[in-house]
Amino acid sequence: MRGGLAGPRVLLRRIREIMAEPLGAQDRLDKIVVQIASNVVAEVCSVYILRADDVLELYATEGLNRDAVHQTSLSVGEGLVGLIAAQARPLNLSDAQSHPGFAYRPETGEENYHSFLGVPILRAGRTLGVLVVQNKASRSYYDEEEEALQTVAMVLAEIVASGELELLSRDGAELNLSQPLHLEGLSMAEGIGLGHVVLHDPRVIVHELIADDLEAEAVRLDEAVKLLRLSIDDLLLRDDVAKGGEHRDILEAYRMFAYDRGWVRRMREAVRTGLTAEAAVERVQNDMRARMMRSTDPYLRERLHDFDDLANRLLRSLLGEQSAVSPENLPKDAIIVARNMGAAELLDYERGNVRGLVLEEGTHTSHVVIVAKALGIPTVGMVQEATSLVENGDAAIVDAESGQIHLRPAADMQSAYGEKVRFRARRQEQYRLLRDEAAITLDGVNIGLQMNAGLLVDLPHLQEAGCDGIGLFRTELQFMVSATLPRKNQQEQIYSAVLDAADGKPVTFRSLDVGGDKILPFISLAQEENPAMGWRAIRLGLDRPGLLRLQLRALLHAASGRHLKIMFPMIASLDEIRDAKELLNREILQLERHNRKMPDVLEVGIMLEVPALLFQLDELMDMVDFVSVGSNDLYQFLFAVDRGNTRISKRFGHLPGSFARTLKQIVDAGKRSGKPVTLCGELAGTPLGAMGLLALGYRSISMSPSSIGPVKAMILSLDLQKVTDFMDGCMKSDIESGDLLDLLQDFANQNNVAI
Ligand code: PEP
Ligand code: MG
Repeated sequence: MRGGLAGPRVLLRRIREIMAEPLGAQDRLDKIVVQIASNVVAEVCSVYILRADDVLELYATEGLNRDAVHQTSLSVGEGLVGLIAAQARPLNLSDAQSHPGFAYRPETGEENYHSFLGVPILRAGRTLGVLVVQNKASRSYYDEEEEALQTVAMVLAEIVASGELELLSRDGAELNLSQPLHLEGLSMAEGIGLGHVVLHDPRVIVHELIADDLEAEAVRLDEAVKLLRLSIDDLLLRDDVAKGGEHRDILEAYRMFAYDRGWVRRMREAVRTGLTAEAAVERVQNDMRARMMRSTDPYLRERLHDFDDLANRLLRSLLGEQSAVSPENLPKDAIIVARNMGAAELLDYERGNVRGLVLEEGTHTSHVVIVAKALGIPTVGMVQEATSLVENGDAAIVDAESGQIHLRPAADMQSAYGEKVRFRARRQEQYRLLRDEAAITLDGVNIGLQMNAGLLVDLPHLQEAGCDGIGLFRTELQFMVSATLPRKNQQEQIYSAVLDAADGKPVTFRSLDVGGDKILPFISLAQEENPAMGWRAIRLGLDRPGLLRLQLRALLHAASGRHLKIMFPMIASLDEIRDAKELLNREILQLERHNRKMPDVLEVGIMLEVPALLFQLDELMDMVDFVSVGSNDLYQFLFAVDRGNTRISKRFGHLPGSFARTLKQIVDAGKRSGKPVTLCGELAGTPLGAMGLLALGYRSISMSPSSIGPVKAMILSLDLQKVTDFMDGCMKSDIESGDLLDLLQDFANQNNVAI
């Protein structure tokens, strides 16, 4: 069948006839392998199917010993067949037995065959089995033969996916389709969710694989490609995109790929082998997906993902299907699974129905994760191949405490997690009961508990959590989830809404803390070697004051006649405080000039995150109304531990003696000057960390809303004098005592503190 495309076309037609015959599963498979062998002129054709236990079992053969069917098996990675499955890549060998991976199975009688061509049976990038042809003579198979085999493998994948072959599996050797599956990722937003999978961008399933009329299919494909190109050109002309930015960059890349000749040529060739237009798109998409899974180069993976997205768009246009799930049809217990998604897309789902979120990508700072956290949706990110491995409607458990996903869980696993969820709910209920109680220690000291926020969806927590105000409003979050730069009026509305919701309780607005890992889609910053120490936060605000001034103006307007607290992030020197205050004063003067009503009270503070300030604490206190310790960044810079680097995450977030002393020096300086000092990093959000802070002298802390309840319960059971004495004792010791949190845990256990 060298060169011509009639071969695969005839073969596909024959297979279609076999598919239509009223046959049992084994007979159908047997007939198919006979057809393939004769069409490819091979003496052997065998089909291996992947079982749930990761073993490839011989399901049908023409040419090998038939007694070996359902007897011969190879693990993934074992032998040539196992290698193809492991690598999801074809193998074309003129002398199979000299390949180092060859594994001899005497029962098959394959010693007589020298040449070997095997291809993976793939569906949505997932390997379901391996299709092999063999010949006695030593020969190299042509590319066309390899292509033809890959096309047939698609049909076999459909047969496997239809469940027909499950009837042939023996007990203990079930197929891989409905078995429980365990995936791992990184926990991004805490909690546990039980429910059923909803694919955010559902795979388009192609059922019509074999073409009736090749010419018509070629025209359909060309039309769909033309439409795709037009739709991307249109998007690029849209107002918000035309101006540039990351949005535009992504679309430009899409446009480039949509015009990629190689991609379109391969799809056209696939049509000429006898496939429908949609099957041809999928056939090429399968190759891309397999390459994507093999590739470790993040840039290449990203580009292959772009092709994958484009192929999905093409498939939808060919099949006339709408894109994502309609939020109205969402099941009541949806576990949303996506490669990635925009923050706004998550907000489109009915919050009450979403039990969990699973992302193939998704990092702690991605917008969708920020929003998921604010909404309290248990989220696990960096789950490889998640979208390929699940089907819509699969039962799933998202354990965002350990970063694990259990798909199609067994009954005992489900009930164990169900119990866990009920336990958490009972605990939440107990915390809710504390809502209106003041946070007072056993020895009568009142502790100020505030919450961290940044989005409008956070605001209901203010009442629900029972806290004293917002200690840190991260204004950049609103910017990060927005596709365009929020204008002054929009900003003013947001800040005003925040103050309304706070209803007189204090709110500390932090000016934009962008740069580093906090990327705004509409501002392109140059790539930096060390973004955490780069052009970010107040540096950006002072060097290019336009954005910061606009924000300060919006804040002043929103807070007219009210109490306003502003703080500047990442301050590294006293000069920066002076400059930032000067900028603010200019805006105030402007207000006065226009006789606009001023805030009743205006307090200006800074975040203490850069260690250089530790050596000027008294001077610093003189220049501000308050200080808030950003313990996340302070720790990062003090210990030179990148807070976002998962490889060193074990080194982050402790309380060694040196850090305890640092934190104490700051709070002591505050006491000396009479200036309030609070702390709003993650350390304050765990009962143990918060207890350590109280022991060091902090009387006000700010944390995520979900931490307020547990921290309040700790305070209500704590003898503050006792823990302060304990801490003093720990700090006096000259010996490096490891993590003080461990010692504090012992203290809590011995003194019945609710931790
Ligand atoms: C911090 O650095 O501790 C902090 C609260 O700020 P962010 O986490 O937003 O950098
Ligand atoms: Mg910070």
